[in-house]
Amino acid sequence: MKMSKMLMLTLREVPAEAEIASHKLMLRAGLMRKMASGIYNYMPLGLKALKNVETIIREEMDATGAQEFLASAMIPSELWKESGRWDAYGAEMFRVKDRNDRDFCLGPTHEEVFTDIARNEIKSYKQLPVNLYQIQTKYRDERRPRFGVMRSREFIMKDAYSFDKDNEGLDLSFNKMHDAYVNIFNKCGLDAKCVEADSGAIGGSNSAEFMVKSEVGEDDIVFCTACDYAANIEKAVSTPETMGKEELKKVNKVETPNAKTIEDLVKFFNTTDKKFAKTLIFNADGKIVAVMVRGDREVNETKVSNALGGVTELSMANAEEVKNATNAEVGFAGPIGIKVDELLVDNEVANMFNFIVGANETGYHIENVNYGRDFEGTVGDFRNITIGEKCPHCGAEITIARGTEVGHIFKLGTKYSEAMGANFIDENGESKPFIMGCYGIGVTRTLASIIEQHHDDNGIIWPLSVAPYHVSIIPVNIKDENQMKVAEEIYNKLKSMGIEVIMDDRNERAGVKFKDSDLMGMPMRVTVGKKINEGQVEFKLRNSDDIEVINIEDVYNKVKEQFNK
Ligand code: ATP
Ligand code: MG
Repeated sequence: MKMSKMLMLTLREVPAEAEIASHKLMLRAGLMRKMASGIYNYMPLGLKALKNVETIIREEMDATGAQEFLASAMIPSELWKESGRWDAYGAEMFRVKDRNDRDFCLGPTHEEVFTDIARNEIKSYKQLPVNLYQIQTKYRDERRPRFGVMRSREFIMKDAYSFDKDNEGLDLSFNKMHDAYVNIFNKCGLDAKCVEADSGAIGGSNSAEFMVKSEVGEDDIVFCTACDYAANIEKAVSTPETMGKEELKKVNKVETPNAKTIEDLVKFFNTTDKKFAKTLIFNADGKIVAVMVRGDREVNETKVSNALGGVTELSMANAEEVKNATNAEVGFAGPIGIKVDELLVDNEVANMFNFIVGANETGYHIENVNYGRDFEGTVGDFRNITIGEKCPHCGAEITIARGTEVGHIFKLGTKYSEAMGANFIDENGESKPFIMGCYGIGVTRTLASIIEQHHDDNGIIWPLSVAPYHVSIIPVNIKDENQMKVAEEIYNKLKSMGIEVIMDDRNERAGVKFKDSDLMGMPMRVTVGKKINEGQVEFKLRNSDDIEVINIEDVYNKVKEQFNK
């Protein structure tokens, strides 16, 4: 590609809306442009890199025996009603009507569609296992689209769906996808870690996420410092801190004027926050639910939602709902006498002695409260684990890092096949529901994550595997016929070797071309300047500061060397 012919515009200024490196660089290097909030157009350079990521994914998926498919993005509501998700999906789903007032959605994911395909096309166990995948555009009306294509409202996903006759088959399919994902992210030059993830109300160790560590990530990942345990904080199991045993004291109501927050109360009672159990009130799909955790802990909403059998909308209760439940203003909720549909008590609270809770009366708290004697509820793990706590596997210390999910593999079991009557005939002639798995990769998010992990102050540093062009050739002075002749020669020969080359033949100063070349991040640069008189050009790798002066005829081996590394 000749740069003079390419539709491209690099930006010197950092676009105001971009907060993170990949977003800034994707705009500055001219890989994409924003059309609306969370909606982007890919420019030629960006599309080339995106296609390279897709090729890697395709190769690895095909190698597992999965078959590529392409479903429509527009899905009739009937399929979603069969699975029950037309209502459950909520505001994130883009819904449209046709001219006859029939409801459709723009697919945020495709479990229903592929379950429907399977029930129509697969009749017998002899046809199983089957794994169908597609690389396709998804639509989600995200509450907060941000960070460019990291969280956009239109994005490209690779989604795959496996159909097996039994659980052993599903395990195999799941493990194959796990291994394929490891290969895919490796080939993309992405350092991604597989972590245990929440599997919703289904439970079990049925879900794993591929996470890239990133300070701007929206997930917290828990890592053990000793063993290889890694889990999303949504899922990471907390171990209750053991508290010293105490004699149970008599319950005592205390007037606590103006003390509402845990900090106020710690001062007032002159104790530590570990002596308190806070009671938080939620609205879970219309049900009012109170959750108790120790004063210094955070409620884990995923664990709460799972304990309630799966919740679509979980939000803090409003002042009126709090008043109805506690007869008090916000800040005085406690377990004794509270009027809620459900009271969830964290394991740790159930093990505490003589603790302090709200009195369900404005201006009052109760001390010396004990679980079992003074109140009861559903006891379980309802809090977030924190740095320094015990690893649930080996007991060593855990640490927490921010991460972004690039892929997700999930054992669905019969959730969709049962709901939608997707059955096959087994060895004994019986009709059985498919045992399913689903496997997603955020393709556009993967591209952004690659840039997030591979850049410096000057721009992108593409790994060779996904670089839109491998080599950028820069003739220093396009008015110099000899320089242009040599540059053309190298350009043509590299192209004939199957190398992707871009030549900056624009009538610009060399400094401008170097800056753009660094910004766009091609892994190798060949500069054709005055040294051609001695038969030499400059060779430079984007990820190194060294400039090598080499003979023109050595360029080809130099380039090849990079591919053999
Ligand atoms: P997140 O927790 O980040 O919202 P998710 O759990 O909703 O992700 P899945 O439904 O598992 O995501 O989708 C599969 C993959 O699609 C994710 O691993 C992620 O890489 C990608 N993805 C999901 N939502 C978006 C989005 N809004 N923009 C870009 N990629 C996305
Ligand atoms: Mg999401």
